[in-house]
Amino acid sequence: MGPKALYPLGWTFRMATTALQQGEVPVGCLLVHKGEIIGRGKNGVNCSKNATRHAEMLAIEEALDWCKNDNLDKDAVFSETDLYVNVEPCVMCAGALRLLGIRRVVYGCQNERFGGCGSILNVASDQRSGHGQPIIQCVPGVFADTSVQLLKEFYKGQNPNAPNPKIKRFQDVSQTSLPVLDVSQPVDLT
Ligand SMILES: [Zn+2]
Repeated sequence: MGPKALYPLGWTFRMATTALQQGEVPVGCLLVHKGEIIGRGKNGVNCSKNATRHAEMLAIEEALDWCKNDNLDKDAVFSETDLYVNVEPCVMCAGALRLLGIRRVVYGCQNERFGGCGSILNVASDQRSGHGQPIIQCVPGVFADTSVQLLKEFYKGQNPNAPNPKIKRFQDVSQTSLPVLDVSQPVDLT
């Protein structure tokens, strides 16, 4: 994948940072279909007190609504949709993405606690799971260092003796309307 194909992943760091500022584990994701964002999500587990409100689940809901509103066949759409997320999807999310027949998952660092794309279980490509759906192409380790750094900020914040985390680097883009996120443009991560 060329650098341009990875631009959406840059945006996920900004969304993840917003989650972090709201006291969530910093995870953000985008679902991209033919260059268009059809779903976005940032982790909302703590705010909602619902352990299933992972970024990917929220993005999936938005994408399914998008299919419905545009009267498109969701199977056809998901077979040409890629997920960009800063952390490896967990077992739950990888299972949901597999059931929906998503084409590809591009992610940052590994999820060593719950990873469903190989770190703990391989829900993404195990032939025994997935209800006969094709395996998901996984592209791991993209901007992995930035992803790890962001997660460390969260765990530092959990420690009352730690200095204030430096989390104001990225602008909040999660509330902007969909067309404003131009994934054909790079995001400055410095
Ligand atoms: Zn998840």
